[in-house]
Amino acid sequence: MKIKVAEFIPEEIENDVLYFSPEFSTAIHLCMCGCENKVVTPFARSEWKLTFEDSFSLHPSIGNWNFKCQSHYWIRDGKVVWCKSDQVSDSMIDKIAISSAVSEVKSNRFINWLRSMKEKISRCFWHN
Ligand SMILES: [Zn+2]
Repeated sequence: MKIKVAEFIPEEIENDVLYFSPEFSTAIHLCMCGCENKVVTPFARSEWKLTFEDSFSLHPSIGNWNFKCQSHYWIRDGKVVWCKSDQVSDSMIDKIAISSAVSEVKSNRFINWLRSMKEKISRCFWHN
C-alpha cells in the first residue's frame, strides 16, 4: 500500500493508496477487499492514529461493519494485515472485563456491551 499526502482528497481515489490530508487530519482509502467502498479515517478527536516509522501504520484496525463485505484489517507498516473472523468467546469476554473494569457496575455494563458487540468483534481487536 502506498501513502499519498494531499491537500484535498481527490475525487478519483486509487486502489491500494492511503490518501492523507494533514490539513483536514483525515485519511481515505478504498476498502482493501476490493469492494470499492471508501473508508474514511478521521484523526481528530482521538479516533484513528497514523504513525510513521519504517512505513506508515494506522491504529486501531479498520472494521468495515457498515459495508456488505464486513472486512476487518490492520494497516501495519504499509501492509494490510487481515483479521481472522473468529469471534470472541464468552470466557474471553469475562477475562477482558475482569482485567479492565474498575467497579462492578462498570464491569456489568462493559460485559453487556461486549456481548452485544460479540458478532462484530474479531479476535485481533484485542491484541494491539
Ligand atoms: Zn470491502
